[in-house]
Amino acid sequence: MAFSPLVDELVESLRCLPGVGQKTAQRMAFHLLERGRSGGTRLSEALRTAMDGVRRCESCQNFADTEICGICENPTRKNGTLCVVESPSDLLAIEQAGDYKGGYFVLMGHLSPIDGVGPEEIGIERLLRRVQDEGVTELILATNPTVEGEATAHYIADRLDGRNILITRLAHGIPVGGELGYVDGFTLTHAFRGRKPLSE
Ligand SMILES: [Zn+2]
Repeated sequence: MAFSPLVDELVESLRCLPGVGQKTAQRMAFHLLERGRSGGTRLSEALRTAMDGVRRCESCQNFADTEICGICENPTRKNGTLCVVESPSDLLAIEQAGDYKGGYFVLMGHLSPIDGVGPEEIGIERLLRRVQDEGVTELILATNPTVEGEATAHYIADRLDGRNILITRLAHGIPVGGELGYVDGFTLTHAFRGRKPLSE
């Protein structure tokens, strides 16, 4: 485009969003300029405020507006159980399910030596300090059931080897209401490994 450097810049900026290419960015920019000026203004203000104001909780590394997030500040959630997840969206999914009442630690990723992401980068040292300081009795390793997520969970479990802490992993398996014939082999293998006595 050549008619407006300001429009060009808006389109280019929108392309930082995941899954947004040139065409989609153009459509978004034109929509905002043609019919969505008030929404666009609100969006720009929300973006600036969030980019300046959202930080990571000093205790769990989740997104927060304050030094310590609401979950970490809540005394009833300090029950000796800590759930380790890879991302804030995983934490949100568990919170929305509504059953878990303990604390969290958000790794903001997984170990990936090829990309130079080691234990320090994702906060594992901070996690281990917290486990020690808070007297955590159960650590739930809820990293993703991917090769990297499994490796990260095993690394953390190895580092805590010999301490008197129950280390658990989420059961991965057949979705409720699912049929075995439609489940992939990887999931089925995990479901077999995670089988429990029928009485539980
Ligand atoms: Zn927190």
